[in-house]
Amino acid sequence: MNVARAPLGDRPASPEPHFARISADPLADAFSGRMGAHARGGAVPVPPAELPALWDRLTATPRKSVSVAYVHIPFCENHCLFCGFYQNPWRRESGAPYVDAVLAQLAQGAETAIQQGHPLRAVYLGGGTPTALAIPDLVRLVEGLRRHLPLAPDCEITLEGRIVSFGLEKARAAFDAGVNRISLGVQSFDERVRRRLGRKSTRAETIRFLDGLMALDRGAVVIDLIYGLPGQDRATFRADVQQAATLGLDGLDLYSLKAIPGTPLLIAQDKGKLTPAAPGELGHFYADGTEEMDRAGWETISTTHWRRGTRERSVYNHEVKAGAHCLAFGAGAGGNLHGHGYRLTPDLDAYRAAGGQGGAALVAGLMRPAPLAPVHNAIKGGMERGRLEIAPVDAALAACGIAAGFDRIAAPLLEQWQQAGLMNAREGGHALTLAGRFWQVAMTARLMAWTDARAVDFTTKETSQ
Ligand code: SF4
Repeated sequence: MNVARAPLGDRPASPEPHFARISADPLADAFSGRMGAHARGGAVPVPPAELPALWDRLTATPRKSVSVAYVHIPFCENHCLFCGFYQNPWRRESGAPYVDAVLAQLAQGAETAIQQGHPLRAVYLGGGTPTALAIPDLVRLVEGLRRHLPLAPDCEITLEGRIVSFGLEKARAAFDAGVNRISLGVQSFDERVRRRLGRKSTRAETIRFLDGLMALDRGAVVIDLIYGLPGQDRATFRADVQQAATLGLDGLDLYSLKAIPGTPLLIAQDKGKLTPAAPGELGHFYADGTEEMDRAGWETISTTHWRRGTRERSVYNHEVKAGAHCLAFGAGAGGNLHGHGYRLTPDLDAYRAAGGQGGAALVAGLMRPAPLAPVHNAIKGGMERGRLEIAPVDAALAACGIAAGFDRIAAPLLEQWQQAGLMNAREGGHALTLAGRFWQVAMTARLMAWTDARAVDFTTKETSQ
C-alpha cells in the first residue's frame, strides 16, 4: 500500500501518550518508536547488601510452576553490525575452560531446591555463538545439562549458532548429545546484503548447509531473517522470505532491524557509511514477509515466528516471555527465579572463580518483581501470540488483589487502538491486526504502563464508593 504521508515529525502528537495515531497507514504511522517493552515495568534493583540473603532464600525455595533454563556462551567470532549482545572475542583456547566453569556451576547447584524438582520444559544454549565450541566441549556441555538438570521427557533443547562455525559433523554430534532444535541467524540470503553485514558464508554455502541439516532429520531447524538492513529493499527481503519458505525448514523468525546504541551499525550510520531502511518503511517490510509466509501456508505462532509442520514448538521463547522460572548458567546469563529477574556476572575471570562455589557471588544483579508482574506476564504472553485473552489477565489481576476486570481498566486504550486499526474485539479477547502485530512490542509496553497507572487507582475508586 502506497499512501502519501507527511514525515512523522510534522504530525501532531497524540493527546494521550499511550494512544496510537489515527492514520490511513497504521503500519507506518501508529507510533513513533517501536521499542520499550523491555523497560523494568516497576521491577526494583535489590541493594547489594540485601542480595546474598534474598538469593539464598530464592534458591532454597522449590519451583512449582513452568520452568526453563538458559545457558550463555559469551563468545563471538566477530561483532555483527546490528548486534547489541557482543561480549567477548572467540578464541579456540577459551572454549574448554569456559565449559569446565559452566559444568562446575551446574554441579555445584545440583542438590539445591531451585535446580532440582519441578521439570524443565526447555533449555536454550544462546550467546554469543554456542556453535563455535569444539565438538567435545559442546557434547560434554549438553551431557552435563542432561545430567544435572531435571529435564522433562519432552524438553526442548535449542542450540543457537552461526553457519560459519558449524558444520554437519558438529550438528550430528549435538543431536547425538541431546539437542533437538537448532536456531541459526541467517539474517539475509542476498549476497550484497550479506557482504555489508560482514557475513562470511555465501548464499550458496548457507543454503547447502541448511539442506544438509534438514536431510539429517534429527530435530527442528529454525532460522532468523532481519528486515530493514542496509542495502536491502522490500523486493530483496521478499525474495529472502520466499527462499526460506522453500527450504523445508521447521521455523522462521522475521525480526525488524533495531537501532541499538553502540552497535557497529549505528556508528557506521552516524558516519553516513551505511543506510538502513527508514523507520516508517519497516511495517511494510513486515507486511510483505507476512504475506509471503501466508502464501506458503506457514502457521503463525507469535507475532514474529512462523512454523511449518509440528516439529517446531518454540517452547523456550514462549514460556520465558510469559514469566516462567528461568535458571541461568554461564557468564552474563540472565534468569528469573520466583519472579525475580537476575543476571550472572559477565566477567569471565570472576565467573570462573565463583562458578564452582555457586551462591550469590555469581550474581551481578537481582531485581524484585513489579507489583503487577503476573499481570504483565499475562499481557506479554497474549500479545506475543497476537491475541490478548482477557481471562488470564483477569486472573492475574485478582491474584494481585485487584478486583476490577481488565476490560474495564483498559477499555479506553483498547477502544482507541481498535479505531487506529491495531486490534479487533473478539469473543473473550482482542486479536491484533497485521499493523497491531507489527507494533506488538510498542503496544505491550504501553498496555502494561497504562494498567500499572490505572489498576490500583481504579480499585481505590471502586472500593471508596
Ligand atoms: S549476532 Fe550473535 S554472533 Fe553476532 S555479535 Fe551478536 S551475539 Fe555475537
